[in-house]
Amino acid sequence: MEYVQDGVTTLHDFGAASPAVPTDRAAVVVPMTEREYRASAAERVLTTLETLGVERVVVPLRASPSVAESIRTWLSASDVPVEVLWCDGPRLGSLLGEAGLNGTRGKGRDVWLALGVASSSEHVVVHDADARGYDERHVRKLLYPLVHGHEFSKAYYARVEDDRLYGRLFRLFYRPLVEALADGEGATPSVLEYLDAFRYALAGEFALTGSLARRMRVQRGWGLEVGTLGEAFRLVGADGSAQVDLGVHQHDHRSVSGATGLSDMSEQVGRALFQALEENGAVPDYDGLEARYRDAARRLVTTYTVNHEDDLHRVWEVERPFELHLDGITVTGRADVILDHEGGVPTALAIVDYKTATSGETADHALQLQIYADAGRREGMDVRGAYVHDLSAAARQPVDVEPAAVQGAETTVAEAAERIRARDYRPNPSQQLCRRCEVRTICGSAVR
Ligand code: SF4
Repeated sequence: MEYVQDGVTTLHDFGAASPAVPTDRAAVVVPMTEREYRASAAERVLTTLETLGVERVVVPLRASPSVAESIRTWLSASDVPVEVLWCDGPRLGSLLGEAGLNGTRGKGRDVWLALGVASSSEHVVVHDADARGYDERHVRKLLYPLVHGHEFSKAYYARVEDDRLYGRLFRLFYRPLVEALADGEGATPSVLEYLDAFRYALAGEFALTGSLARRMRVQRGWGLEVGTLGEAFRLVGADGSAQVDLGVHQHDHRSVSGATGLSDMSEQVGRALFQALEENGAVPDYDGLEARYRDAARRLVTTYTVNHEDDLHRVWEVERPFELHLDGITVTGRADVILDHEGGVPTALAIVDYKTATSGETADHALQLQIYADAGRREGMDVRGAYVHDLSAAARQPVDVEPAAVQGAETTVAEAAERIRARDYRPNPSQQLCRRCEVRTICGSAVR
């Protein structure tokens, strides 16, 4: 039951939501390389797309001449219309060369080429072919904001596998770099706030209108994701953007070094971030940025290795779903992490909810954790603590889950449900709430 809005409209994962959207007016771009050829994850993606009734699938293919035709044959056997764009093909290369556009090869170049083809559709969804937990709701959820007034939507999800956190490039490079830039005096907050609002800015899954795809400039290499955010901000701003929770994803993992390793990727992501800032009018303070970045990264890492070292040995469960049944009301949600050994007692549990930033305000999140604690106790769990963990500030705030506080949370939920039943939708404006509300442009009560 995560409901907090960030700097852009944020659609949380409410379990099995599979919204009705016009998939028949959508092109799905699935970049592939040779390594996806007949891979089980890619097979699953294609099979799933067959059931979705999408208008077409566009596959920008990076492959050597020896296998390109075999891959085309494999893709053509699908029951969904597939258009293959051989990005390494000699004809495409010479056409781009003649136009002076045949720049560096990479995923960004492939997606840029595919967007040109796919943008004649009303909507375009872009996602990778290696997500092992892929299901048909991903396309539906990404499309949903587009049929409700937004022009751009981006996925976010947890990268948890074998009890380990992944998404290293985002957590250890992008987040502290954005924080370090915010510490400088030159960066204009609005574009930084926008980039900071995305819970997984490096996710490769996004959707956009065909019209936006035609206007968007796309970076050639691993700067694709951040560059796309910068362009979305330039063209449609925060009001036209949304992010959508896709649950938990398991992708292939990359090594740190090597041509496609995280080190090489980080250079391109960093360049793309600076470019996105500068092109949107910000003047980043580069003096001392390296030192500020190291400080921010050290603060985040130290928090885990020193302040929360125990957590590494205390993980009891991750992404744990909860259901709280009150009188005529069912509240559902999913806790990020549950730790055992709370207070040194092996069977005692603590629920931790991670936030990219809380602006120092934990009250908004307390209700959520109190409801999880309540639901857990009704299941027989020995929940003795709950915490909001602000990843940006590297700080952890306790939430009161004593019986009186939990009872108060139940009353709050029951009263809210009663007001909804009575169709009592009295506004409750505040500067903080209205600033992030998706209906503020048409709401007569908004604090502007
Ligand atoms: S008062 Fe209007 S704009 Fe403000 S939070 Fe409520 S609905 Fe949104």
